[in-house]
Amino acid sequence: MNLFVPFIGTMSVVGAAVGAVYYATYAVRSQWLGPTVWHGRRDTRSVSLTFDDGPSEDTELILDVLEAHNLLATFFMIGRNVDRFPQIARRIVAAGHEVGNHSYSHPIYLYRRAQRTCRELELTQAAILEATGLSPTIARPPCGVRTSAYFSEARRLGLRTVQWDVAAFDWNRLKAKQISRNVLRRACAGSIVLLHDGDSEGKRNRRETAKALPLIIKGLRDAGLSIVPLAELLPESELEPTTLGRGLNDRTANA
Ligand SMILES: [Zn+2]
Repeated sequence: MNLFVPFIGTMSVVGAAVGAVYYATYAVRSQWLGPTVWHGRRDTRSVSLTFDDGPSEDTELILDVLEAHNLLATFFMIGRNVDRFPQIARRIVAAGHEVGNHSYSHPIYLYRRAQRTCRELELTQAAILEATGLSPTIARPPCGVRTSAYFSEARRLGLRTVQWDVAAFDWNRLKAKQISRNVLRRACAGSIVLLHDGDSEGKRNRRETAKALPLIIKGLRDAGLSIVPLAELLPESELEPTTLGRGLNDRTANA
């Protein structure tokens, strides 16, 4: 019986270590490995919309809805999708939306060498700069998974990490109504909403997300929440406001 005690003890230590690594890297709100923003100011009734994994053909549907509602959002782009759809990336920037680095090929950084992580971030900065003329200052790693290598490269490139506190779960096969329900059920003052305008594997379309967007916008406004650009939602010290975002969105409209 005594023989098992050290074994069980070792297993507990291993289990705790695995749990700690999982928390530090996967937990959306973890600050263990580096500074991570996951919500904005809670003292104003405002939220921001963010879209990951594009650009894709469906991004245009989403841009149309945002334009019709006079709103700005943030697009965390995959570098190889920017190379594929540079004209859509340009339309995003021309409309005044903010763009962020979402890796080049959407790997989970935890399972990649540090060198590869650096390359993913660098290639994406270059792709976005070439297509749009803008160099992002924010990043969101694939699936929100952060590592030490990610943070040191993000720091070197001047990228702040922005996660979310409300997920639409639109990467599952959900209908528009369910996607909007997922957002409206949890959104509150300061929320950063995670939606998708593309698919990291390029297999699924985002038409249901585009259909959900007017429902989300209406529902948020009915709940008294203004939709503002991310730069306005975050405390000033955390993100430089872009001049592009001024003059649009709910806060300005309501002011
Ligand atoms: Zn993604």
